[in-house]
Amino acid sequence: METVTRYDVIVIGGGVVGSLTARELTRLGARVLVLEAKSDVASGTTAANSGIVHAGFDAETGTNKAKLNVRGSAMMPALTKELSVRYQQIGALVTASGDEGLAGLEKLLERGKKNGVSGLSIVRGEALRALEPNLSTELDCALFATTSGIVCPYGLAIAAMGNAMDNGATLLRNTPVTSIEATDGGYLVNGTYFAKAVVDAAGLAAHKVAALAGFTGLKQHPRRGEYLLLDRNCGGTVKHTVFTLPTKAGKGILVSPTADGNLLLGPTAEDLPEGVNCAVTAAGQDKIIATAKKMVPSVPLGGRITSFAGLRAVGESGDFEISQKNGFVILTGIESPGLSAAPAIAELIGEMLGEAGLLPEKPMANFDPVRTVVRPKEMTDVERDALIRRDPAYGRIVCRCEEVSEGEIRDALRQNPPALTIDGIKRRTRATMGRCQGGFCTPSLVALVSRERKIDETKVAKGDGNSIIADRRTKGGN
Ligand SMILES: Cc1cc2nc3c(=O)[nH]c(=O)nc-3n(C[C@H](O)[C@H](O)[C@H](O)COP(=O)(O)OP(=O)(O)OC[C@H]3O[C@@H](n4cnc5c(N)ncnc54)[C@H](O)[C@@H]3O)c2cc1C
Repeated sequence: METVTRYDVIVIGGGVVGSLTARELTRLGARVLVLEAKSDVASGTTAANSGIVHAGFDAETGTNKAKLNVRGSAMMPALTKELSVRYQQIGALVTASGDEGLAGLEKLLERGKKNGVSGLSIVRGEALRALEPNLSTELDCALFATTSGIVCPYGLAIAAMGNAMDNGATLLRNTPVTSIEATDGGYLVNGTYFAKAVVDAAGLAAHKVAALAGFTGLKQHPRRGEYLLLDRNCGGTVKHTVFTLPTKAGKGILVSPTADGNLLLGPTAEDLPEGVNCAVTAAGQDKIIATAKKMVPSVPLGGRITSFAGLRAVGESGDFEISQKNGFVILTGIESPGLSAAPAIAELIGEMLGEAGLLPEKPMANFDPVRTVVRPKEMTDVERDALIRRDPAYGRIVCRCEEVSEGEIRDALRQNPPALTIDGIKRRTRATMGRCQGGFCTPSLVALVSRERKIDETKVAKGDGNSIIADRRTKGGN
């Protein structure tokens, strides 16, 4: 008979919501287990989105989206500082033209004020041009939101999970949840793990996971968003996140610097049947280019380095659907602004489980909220010089495009949650994310994974599934 391991809470899914929830529940004193289906956290929707921390003027007043977006956005500066995650409050401009456009912006401004968003104003003509010189002259007015920011979405999830683990949480990867049995005043998951409370943060699969526990009838479908990513030397094309007026399908296509200094164009919005389809399409890419050019005619398309797509989990109500019954928390419809709202969703789940009497009486006494990451590129010359003298691995550059050192890659393979694959290293350090997309450094990364994980180089995978990079040696030796 299999032994059962007991926890206070089991979190299903290691996206940004599950990871921040695991950290919050650990802080509140709970013994937390996170079960993630893939080989790494932040592998689902959290890996492919716009990375905007929205100010909170877009969602209808009174909805979960509006409340949790505004609260999450306010939490983001302190949270990202504690966790050493890249975040910059660069501000956003929702652009428009003519009387009709201006009327649309005024509606957004009013809604923003009702939602409790500060730092909103309408800018016009020369004032707008001064804020964003490369903007099309066809656009003559904008809603300026000073509290909008950009964040590295997977960086936030990885850091939150790492900090939860540093404080005692357990993460099991490559562990899809396939059965949930309500028993003994709690839930037995996969026949092996027991907890009085479960948080279903499985993103696009959350309705299916809920059904395993008997909570049937929930519906979600994927809405694909495609992107084009431009090199870091294009990041300065715009200074703010530039949008057009939102529609029912979403906030529309944007042009924005990313937290890592690239320029991002997208996303499209295309409803798809159930399943995971992250393909990019010629039609989607053409649409992005045409829309981006209308906003910023000089957008430097020659700097394109890659295209990708993400899938929004769209529920039936159009709002975030968050419920708790008998200690089982279900999160469906966590589409945009789910990243912005994630810290507040985690806080809300803590309150829900606390009120239900399912958490320990006291928070963890010695919880350490801080996670540090060594980033030589962000240091002064003097600091970097001293670091390299102490540890020469930080002076050996492995990824030349993104200037990532062996020391940083080694840290990514050791620090919680340790990277297991090349994609895991990529999301932690940016190695392979530059212009050559890993053409130069992949062999060195394979060697480092092999050394640190003590596995043969022919066992090193790029990511999930059958993605082994080199399946045999061609020259018989090393
Ligand atoms: C195109 C696009 C643009 C967006 N832009 C923004 C934006 O700019 N700002 C913003 O605030 N939000 C944005 N969002 C929304 C935001 O990305 C999501 O709300 C957020 O990432 C959702 O995180 P999550 O943790 O709920 O889901 P996910 O990141 O999908 O995590 C769910 C996890 O559960 C795991 N899982 C699934 N099934 C199981 C199982 N059976 N057992 C164990 N694990 C399982 C998955 O592998 C996955 O890791 C955007 C989304 C998209 C697609």
